[in-house]
This record gives sequence, structure tokens and C-alpha cells, in this order.
Amino acid sequence: MSAPARDNTFSTLVRQVHACRKCPRMGSSARVLNYSAGALTAKILFIGEAPGRLGADNTQIPFHGDVAGNNFEDLLSFAGISRSEIFVTNAVLCTPKDERGNNATPNAGEVSNCSSFLRRQIDLIDPKIVVTLGATALAAVQTIEPHGLSLRQVVRSSHSWYGRLLIPLYHPGQRAMIHRSLANQRSDYQFVSETLRRLDSPKARSAGVTKADALALAQVIIGARGKVSYFELHKLAYLIEYLHVRRTGTRLTNAYYIRQKDGPYCTDLQLSRLQRTASWLKVVKLKNQLILSSASGDSGHLFSKPEFSSVSESAVEDALRRYCYDSEAELKTAVYMTAPMRHMLRKERIQKINMYNAPIDFLAAR
Ligand code: URA
Repeated sequence: MSAPARDNTFSTLVRQVHACRKCPRMGSSARVLNYSAGALTAKILFIGEAPGRLGADNTQIPFHGDVAGNNFEDLLSFAGISRSEIFVTNAVLCTPKDERGNNATPNAGEVSNCSSFLRRQIDLIDPKIVVTLGATALAAVQTIEPHGLSLRQVVRSSHSWYGRLLIPLYHPGQRAMIHRSLANQRSDYQFVSETLRRLDSPKARSAGVTKADALALAQVIIGARGKVSYFELHKLAYLIEYLHVRRTGTRLTNAYYIRQKDGPYCTDLQLSRLQRTASWLKVVKLKNQLILSSASGDSGHLFSKPEFSSVSESAVEDALRRYCYDSEAELKTAVYMTAPMRHMLRKERIQKINMYNAPIDFLAAR
């Protein structure tokens, strides 16, 4: 859509929102939708619950001027996200209040009354990522396209939804800190910023297939082992990356690793992507384990592929010599002994946070 057409559509929407009188208890509150919501071309759209009585209802700027707004702006700044590059709105655009005049949660009818306005904002901005803040916002987007997600189960993970990614996070208001610590929320916002960085990077645009450097890594592992379980593949890939960083100070690949319940997981080596990319790959299921090998039965040729520089190749060979024939239990112990994992475990223990799905930063934790 051209910029003038986008402006026109937005102005029409703002006019209609300001004229709306559907919800009886919102009569006297502000209709918080205007240009201070952010960029009409934003790649990330955040959705809160409703304008706060002491914040947006006064300032006309979503998430600005109250405790939730201050927390939100701090979290954005921690993750290096600027308000000027995002669009911020709410599931309902007016402030619901209880009998005593305090902020109230919008009811299902009020969310439904505002749902077409929400859908039109998403259609207009067309963001790559929609971040819902809190259970009300997550439920509100369900009226646009069902997703069946529950906040507690899926917080800080991304899901295909309505032609884009949906990332459910907790609401940054005062109450939310009870459910999710500040440190955990900071990791949540870093996850949002990292997800966008990956969507924007030309390498990540080949989503759906394994990138060449990660594929080369899988090849040398399967080539060296002959057969490898899916679990072993991910742990060996991580250990090779880790030793490569220690030896050379640089990453071997641009692959993305996250902390999962059983240790590091390389999202670039996700099974369906690997299968789509590697015609040589054979995958069989054996007693609840996925075993990967070469379809030709001869894996030797995979190992000899000269994909890495000679410095990298020798670092990879050393790492394989050290870990190649370790059992799953030994590999699990080895990954938890590495600096990035120890750093994460310490953070989880001391700050009482759960870092599942958080990116592993090899370079920061050396
Ligand atoms: N301010 C907003 O704009 N939305 C909320 O959900 C809370 C405070």
C-alpha cells in the first residue's frame, strides 16, 4: 500500500474509533488511537489490554505515563527496541473502569466490540510480528484467527498466526511482576528483537530450508558418526560451535541455538527443515528415538565436504575427536559444563527465572 493510501486508511479508522459508542461504560474515556501509536509501517505490533486510567487515558499514548507504561518502555529499551519503529495498541481502545473508578479488565463483549478495529489495525500495519501482552490481548487476537494458545504454556515462543508470527508475552503492569520476574521479562523482549533480526536477515529468509553452514555442520557430524540420534546431533552441533568459539573467537556458523529443557537446541537443524534440504538424509524412528544417517548407507563422503576454512576444519575435527563417540548422557553432561549453559543456569537459579527458549549467546558468555 502506498504511504498516502495508508495514511488515509488510518485516518478513516481513527475517525470511526473516535465516533464509536458501542460500550456503555466507556462513554467518558478517551479513544486511544492516533499517530502516537507508532509507525504505520512497523514490523512489530504490540497489543496491550486497554488504555490505563493514569496512563494512556490521559496521555493518549498507549503504554505511556503509568507504571505499566514505564515498565514497557524500560523493557523495550533493554532489548534495544525503539518506540519509533513499532506500533502499540490495545485489545480495547477505551478505558474500562469499575464502580469505584479504578482500571477494570475489559469483558468479552467489550473485546468483541473492538475486535474489528484491532483486525483493521493489524491489516493496515501488516507487521511481521504481533506481540500480545497478557491474557486479555492473547484472547482478543483469537477472535481474528483462532490460535488455541495458553499464555502460561507458550510465553516467549513464536507461532504462525494470521499470516505472521505471534509472540505471547505477559502484561508489563505491576501485577505481572508477580507471575514473571523482571529478568525473565527482559529475556522476553530480547527474544522479540532477536526474532525480528532473524526474519530480517537475508540468510534467515530461506526459512523452511537448512542454511548451508548449519547443513555442513550436520553433514560432518553424521559423516563422522555414521548414525546419530536427533538429540546427539543437536548436542554435538552445540559443542562443536562452542569449542570453535573458544579456539578462534568467532562462530563457526550463523545457526541459532536456544536453551531447551534438555539443553541446547539448534533451530536451524530442525528435523523438517533438514529433511527438506538434505536429499541424502535418512531418518528412522527407533524406540522413540529419531536416528539420522546417510540414505546411501555410506556416510564417509559427507565428512569430506570442504565447507569450512582450514582453521575451522581443524577446530571441528578436534571437537569431534573429543565428543564424537560420547553417549547421550555424556553429551548432556558436557553441554551443561560449557560456559554459556553455566551462565544461563546460574541466572535461572539466582534470579529464579526460566530461560527456556532464550537464545544462547556463545560470544557473551566466554
Ligand atoms: N496502558 C496501556 O495502554 N495498555 C495497558 O494494557 C496498560 C496500560
